[in-house]
Amino acid sequence: MSEENKMNDIERTARRWLEERGVTIQDIAELVYYLQSKYHPELKMEECIHNVDRVLTKREIQNAVLTGIQLDKLAEQGLLEEPLLSTIKVDEGLYGVDEILAFSIVNVYGSIGFTNYGYIDKKKPGILKRLNDKSSGECHTFLDDIVGAIAAAASSRLAHRAANTN
Ligand code: MG
Repeated sequence: MSEENKMNDIERTARRWLEERGVTIQDIAELVYYLQSKYHPELKMEECIHNVDRVLTKREIQNAVLTGIQLDKLAEQGLLEEPLLSTIKVDEGLYGVDEILAFSIVNVYGSIGFTNYGYIDKKKPGILKRLNDKSSGECHTFLDDIVGAIAAAASSRLAHRAANTN
């Protein structure tokens, strides 16, 4: 596989896995809107979608998406070893590695991303509420943090762009 094909394959797979796990770009864009509309009253959904889309072209972010979703899937299928399996399956509060992985996403667009991430992680609006619903039998221990982090990163990107054009 050539470098370019491999790169495209990573991005394509990251986007496909998000979809397969029930997360659309629209869902993430709605979180961006939730975070940014109070600062940008003219904000349009298309801008939110565009910023999420741009964030997903970054290799660091694709790597985090693939790694996190892979671990969620293996946990769901019971294919990890104990004690890690139970820890991830029950989304143990003291585990914390899901958040560390999400920080690698938030980090890409600088420090305001952390504030945004902390805020939606606490409020859990939209898709985050569904991903945190433990009654579904699905495991989204990593995915909830990844989705929140992509939204936070896209919000930072949007905020930086807005500041530079004003
Ligand atoms: Mg989590």
